[in-house]
Amino acid sequence: MRASQLYAPTLRETPAEAEVISHQLMLRAGFIRKAAGGIYSYLPLAWRVLRKIENIVREEMDAKGGQELFMPVIQPAEMWMETGRWSVYGDEMFRLKDRHNRDFCLGPTHEEMITTLVRGDVRSYRQLPLRLYQIQNKYRDEIRPRFGLMRGREFIMKDLYSFDKDEAGLDESYDKMYDAYTKIFSRCGLTFRAVEADSGAIGGSGSHEFMVIADSGEAAIVYCPSCEYTANVEKAELHPIIHADEELLPLTITDTPGTKTIAAVSKYLGVAPARTIKTLAYITDGEQLIFALVRGDHEVNEIKLLNKLKCLRIDLATEDVITRITGSTVGYLGPVGVQNSEKVAIVADHSVMNMYNAVCGANQPERHYINVNPKRDFSPFLVADIRLIRENDPCPRCGIKVKTTRGIEVGQVFKLYTKYSKALQATFIDENGIEKPMVMGCYGVGVSRTMAAAIEQNYDENGIIWPVPIAPYQAVVVPVNAKDEAQMSLAEKIYSELNGNSIETVLDDRNERPGVKFKDADLIGYPLRITVGPKALSEGLIEVKIRRTGETSFFKAEDYIGSIT
Ligand code: ATP
Ligand code: MG
Ligand code: MG
Ligand code: MG
Repeated sequence: MRASQLYAPTLRETPAEAEVISHQLMLRAGFIRKAAGGIYSYLPLAWRVLRKIENIVREEMDAKGGQELFMPVIQPAEMWMETGRWSVYGDEMFRLKDRHNRDFCLGPTHEEMITTLVRGDVRSYRQLPLRLYQIQNKYRDEIRPRFGLMRGREFIMKDLYSFDKDEAGLDESYDKMYDAYTKIFSRCGLTFRAVEADSGAIGGSGSHEFMVIADSGEAAIVYCPSCEYTANVEKAELHPIIHADEELLPLTITDTPGTKTIAAVSKYLGVAPARTIKTLAYITDGEQLIFALVRGDHEVNEIKLLNKLKCLRIDLATEDVITRITGSTVGYLGPVGVQNSEKVAIVADHSVMNMYNAVCGANQPERHYINVNPKRDFSPFLVADIRLIRENDPCPRCGIKVKTTRGIEVGQVFKLYTKYSKALQATFIDENGIEKPMVMGCYGVGVSRTMAAAIEQNYDENGIIWPVPIAPYQAVVVPVNAKDEAQMSLAEKIYSELNGNSIETVLDDRNERPGVKFKDADLIGYPLRITVGPKALSEGLIEVKIRRTGETSFFKAEDYIGSIT
């Protein structure tokens, strides 16, 4: 490519509307132009970067058994009504009507579409697992489209959906995608962390966000310098507890955990009936089980809390959690007697029965405790605030002080289980002839946001510093004086040799002052700049400058290609 022909209109001034670096630099370096808030044209340089990211994504998806397809952007309302998301999605959904007044939307995501597609054609366990993906524009009418490509209203996403016959299959698909995402962002040359994205944080691995570490990131991340623990601050609470997104209904505490309750609890929790579980306490609103505290076998203390909105699984030993929070020995925590999510009652206790009594006692002050000595067996109502984890709080896993940093969410992996397959009746017949809902996962990479995030992480005062694997071109050849025939012909020679050796190269053949060309080269962020000046001609030495380090070296004309590749 010749710079004189390249459609990369650079700007001298930073456009006022651009708040973040990636937005400023992409406008200035001629990568993008705005059509409307959050809606951009990608000019040729940006499109090359995007295609490189896409190709890395494709290779890693294909390596994990992904099959690429392409679904409609325009989606009929009916499938969204079947899952209830037509109303849930709210203003973020771009909606439109056709000439017959039928409702459609521009796809913000494709769970409904793909589940409907697959349910029509998959009948047997023999057709599973399926891992289908596409790379396509997504549409979300974000409240505040800002930060350029970081939060667009039209943006490019890779979305893969996995369909498995059971949870073990889902776990495998999930692990494969997690691994693929790690490879994708490493191959893009980015520094990132995978962050637990469940509110559960502890032990929950139902979702991870992949965060590119950058000061401008919208998400604050806490991580443990000693163990693997990394979580989104927004979601990482110091106490593992249900937090109600809406006010809890008036509660009825049922105080006899009979066999019926245990059956109901096991059903809700999806615990195999063979497994011994003991209900410690449960709360219903008269009809539905809202909350249950359950103890599993002796080795693993397992508390599972659930309400209508969320089911949290806490695999950490209960005692451990309580000990760390309260400093007392054994205990139990839950939203008992608490109507909002601000406070939690912590009741220290010793035995299962005492815990149970203590729980009931929380809402029934006059209750007569049997065989319980309140001072000896528990200290009721230690009330602690639920608050977000902060720098230097103890790590929920290992107790070491956590640190914080900021990150940009470039991808997310998510276990959907049977949420969509149940709602849309995507079932299959298993080995025993039994009809079952498919077990699903979804996995998104923000392709256009990844490009922006790469800049947020790689720039200096002169412009972009592209990681080599996603650079629009790897090198630029700059003849100092394009009017000098000898310089130009050497530059042409180098330019075609580099391209011939698969080094994607631009020749800056413009009739500009060298300073202008050097400035543009830095701004656009080519990893290598090869300057052909008088020295190249007189001494046969070619100057190669590395954009990232600013290092300049001279190579003999005969072996510069070897040194570059
Ligand atoms: P965010 O929390 O930033 O709003 P999200 O969690 O809503 O993102 P997902 O539904 O998980 O996004 O979509 C998968 C990926 O798509 C995200 O990890 C992100 O990289 C990208 N993405 C989401 N929204 C946008 C957007 N408005 N502009 C650009 N990329 C986006
Ligand atoms: Mg969002
Ligand atoms: Mg998010
Ligand atoms: Mg997300």
